[in-house]
Amino acid sequence: MERNLTCILCPRGCTLNVTVDGDNVFVTGNSCPRGRYYGEEEVVAPKRTVTSIVRVSNRDDVMVSVKTETPVAKADIFTVMEEIRKASVTAPVRVGDVILTDVCGSNIIATKNID
Ligand code: SF4
Repeated sequence: MERNLTCILCPRGCTLNVTVDGDNVFVTGNSCPRGRYYGEEEVVAPKRTVTSIVRVSNRDDVMVSVKTETPVAKADIFTVMEEIRKASVTAPVRVGDVILTDVCGSNIIATKNID
């Protein structure tokens, strides 16, 4: 199997060619080692950082932006979104506060201050 991907780890956006041959994965086109890792991971077990918003229960019509602290498996994104959708938080909230713990292997953290 062969795939062409764009590395999304920095603005340079290198075009990667990833070839899977049995258990071996070969990456070319990367300008740095991070691109090789990205290419390998993207064909073997793709992950994404999920961003969303959570309701602030003690403020009218206020939401706080959140994200997964670490990328989660692409296959788990809908589960993560469902857990975030059910969540609420009480202000004050600070950037980096953990809103939910261990959702598909990642904490959900605030990315905005709410006084
Ligand atoms: S391979 Fe390296 S230089 Fe190229 S886009 Fe990815 S992170 Fe940036």
